[in-house]
Amino acid sequence: MGLTDIQARINKACTDAERDPADVQLIAVSKVQPNERVEAVLEEGHRVFGENRVQEAAGKWPDFKQRFEGVAVHLIGPLQTNKARQAMELVDAIHSVDRPKLATTLARVAQEIGQCPDLFVQVNTGAEPQKAGILPAEADGFIKECRALDLPIKGVMCIPPVEETPSLHFALLRKIAERNGLAGLSMGMSADFEQAIAFGATHIRVGSAIFGDRVKPQG
Ligand SMILES: *Cc1c(COP(=O)(O)O)cnc(C)c1O
Repeated sequence: MGLTDIQARINKACTDAERDPADVQLIAVSKVQPNERVEAVLEEGHRVFGENRVQEAAGKWPDFKQRFEGVAVHLIGPLQTNKARQAMELVDAIHSVDRPKLATTLARVAQEIGQCPDLFVQVNTGAEPQKAGILPAEADGFIKECRALDLPIKGVMCIPPVEETPSLHFALLRKIAERNGLAGLSMGMSADFEQAIAFGATHIRVGSAIFGDRVKPQG
């Protein structure tokens, strides 16, 4: 495993799907990884990373951003409204816009600071009670609401239930994106990014397959 190997697998999946690899953004998920591992991937030239906690991102990325040019950080984990401002000042994209209260807060802060990261609406495609995300049946209405707030919604994101075939969820997410005129599809992780690419993923979030197992477990 490692960055080179993952890039080769992305290229192969794109060839199989008759897609241009330039249309698939690899987000290297660096949450809970030791800084040496993250730095090694930066040294290899990779520049797009994913974190799932604002606190953790704030602890490591300002320094890396100073030392390496062109770094982009994507927040892929749940966002509390009281951390919205800090997140918006820190990251380049948020993949977890999942409820009206958060959308309203993002819109207000965007007005105040005059900027907003790229946003993805997280859809709970498996309707799992413990999982974040807007329900599929409510996705269209919520996306409309976000647009009415002038939020820069670029796409939709999902995390399929672990025990189900991910393809069904990727297909559902793509349908939601298509009927809402959204180009961005954030889907696919270490175990299933090739399938996600076959279903049109534009952003894949790959952690352990690049960095190795996370040092301590995190949900
Ligand atoms: C941790 C995480 C990933 C990466 O998971 P891996 O299985 O290590 O590739 C992707 N997306 C989200 C939302 C995550 O929290």
